[in-house]
Amino acid sequence: MSSWTTYKRLLRYTIPYKTAMVVGVVGFLIYAQTQWIWAELIKYIFSAIDSGDQTAKNLIAVAIMVIFLVRGIGSFLGSYGVAYVARKVVHDLRVELFRQLLSLSPSYFDQHASGRVLSKITYNVEQVAGSSSEALKIILQEGLIVIGLMVYLIYSHWKLSLLFVLIFPLIGWVVRYASRRLNLVSQRIQDSMGDVTHIASEALNGFNVVKLYGGGPFERQRFDDASQNNLKQSMKLVVTQSINTPVVQCIVSIAMSAMVWVALQPQLFGDTSAADFIAYLTAAGLMVKPIRQLTQVNGTIQRGIAGARSIFELMDEPRERDEGGQRLSHVRGELAFHEVCFEYPLLEDKSHRHTPAAESDDDAPSRQDDGQQGQAERDHRVLKEITLTIKPGEMVAFVGRSGAGKSTLASLIPRFYDPTSGTITLDGVPIEALSLSHLREQVAMVTQEVALFNATIAHNIAYGTLEGATPEEIRAAAEDANALEFIDALPDGMNTLLGEEGVQLSGGQRQRLAIARALLKNAPLLILDEATSALDNASERIIQTALERVMQNRTTLVIAHRLSTIEAADTIVVMDQGRIVEVGTHKALLAQGGIYTELQSTFNKTQPSKQV
Ligand code: ADP
Repeated sequence: MSSWTTYKRLLRYTIPYKTAMVVGVVGFLIYAQTQWIWAELIKYIFSAIDSGDQTAKNLIAVAIMVIFLVRGIGSFLGSYGVAYVARKVVHDLRVELFRQLLSLSPSYFDQHASGRVLSKITYNVEQVAGSSSEALKIILQEGLIVIGLMVYLIYSHWKLSLLFVLIFPLIGWVVRYASRRLNLVSQRIQDSMGDVTHIASEALNGFNVVKLYGGGPFERQRFDDASQNNLKQSMKLVVTQSINTPVVQCIVSIAMSAMVWVALQPQLFGDTSAADFIAYLTAAGLMVKPIRQLTQVNGTIQRGIAGARSIFELMDEPRERDEGGQRLSHVRGELAFHEVCFEYPLLEDKSHRHTPAAESDDDAPSRQDDGQQGQAERDHRVLKEITLTIKPGEMVAFVGRSGAGKSTLASLIPRFYDPTSGTITLDGVPIEALSLSHLREQVAMVTQEVALFNATIAHNIAYGTLEGATPEEIRAAAEDANALEFIDALPDGMNTLLGEEGVQLSGGQRQRLAIARALLKNAPLLILDEATSALDNASERIIQTALERVMQNRTTLVIAHRLSTIEAADTIVVMDQGRIVEVGTHKALLAQGGIYTELQSTFNKTQPSKQV
């Protein structure tokens, strides 16, 4: 995206705030007039001294006050109007960016570190805010001053003023040269800020690992390097800007001295009065500061444009596909997979695509060198030709070694990812034909990772669309999930605040809340992905009974690691390296003497273990 396109796109965001913008412009317009009026006043002061007119002297004293009062009002209106527009635009950008984040596909976050994304919402948006309001203010305020003074100068002595006009292209050239460099450096500053946030958030998320494995020095070094890089780039910006200013000032001063020299030649301006001449020089002198500021504004603009560009990049990311608008009036819960294959999107490199995140146990570096042929030969598929029908109300257990593709299969059902080929149908309707929100309403999912929000327990259970649940319903769900006991023991019960600023829960307690949330959702499809892994044996048994009760009227997919769950399943699906290798009941599979029997011996040995 070119700077100009980015700039125009950013400007479009100011359209809703036209009125404030007009107020700002009018404010600065008033402010600008006081500058040349000041030069004009100098002329009157000289005339008053010459003539000794007392009334004129009194008027001048009043005029000075009035000029400053008007200038103050203009400055306030201008600054306020522009800041108002800029802050509003930032707010709009931030909100739109967050909305966009929520509508991205989960695979975006597989490929982009969350720290870098956060840095866009916090740092980059602020950059745009700071720089656009500052830049706009300077452009309007100083730009209008320059225009006002220029008109005054030309009006006073157009020939003399030509000299001034002549230097503008020269200044323009310097500024253009500097802006290219400023643009590049600003971009790098932003990237380095993303690194800083990324490293900090990674270290904070894995704080205990850092401590326990002595990762401190490594993290410190990494952070130092990132921060150093930021420092280096920032200094480059400062240097470019600092050279820019004196160069421009030199050019202006050369023009000024040429002008004074010419003006002092009596044959050229013999008829000019001293008062006129002083007023003229005052006006010309008043131009120096605004011109300097205008040339500096360039760095600010480039900073804003670099920020805006990275924000727009995120805004232009494709959203989750939600084209099918179909809704099912009654969901029975028949789930069928037809030759479903799936491959995680490859991580994108700038020049070529390589290093698939999938099958990370393979030696990734060697794959970077693969040409087209190598790519074609390798099978990156995590799921291979999965064909399976799950009848309404059936409970199916998925077993297999870690990495077999069980969780991936489950994540295709609420369309966190779309199959690379093949179809998944719910009650015979392809899931892409259903509206995404409708499809997701049909699925309750409990996984090992429990997301809790900074809210009360009740709000955490009745999250999102479940918000309308009554306190009784929430309690019932908590009771079924065997969570009521610990909730009631907390000081504020259901109203206890969770999250970083609230009470911290144990892994098992968190998981019970997740189960309560899923139970409250009461959806026709229930997916339990190692849902009871964080529970001790006693709690698991109680939960198990609760789960069995809720499983009754719904289709349940369990990714299981405990013998008890597996044995109770209507069907057991054994997966290996992305394929379904065996399907049957516990007894039938045992009789078959295949992979299941092999896995079974590990169950027995390690029971109750977390991994199969
Ligand atoms: P299971 O649940 O059977 O342990 P998974 O479905 O989690 O297996 O993983 C199957 C394969 O997909 C693994 O090789 C894993 O590395 C890969 N994988 C899992 N999640 C992702 C992801 N988000 N991006 C890329 N590859 C992934």
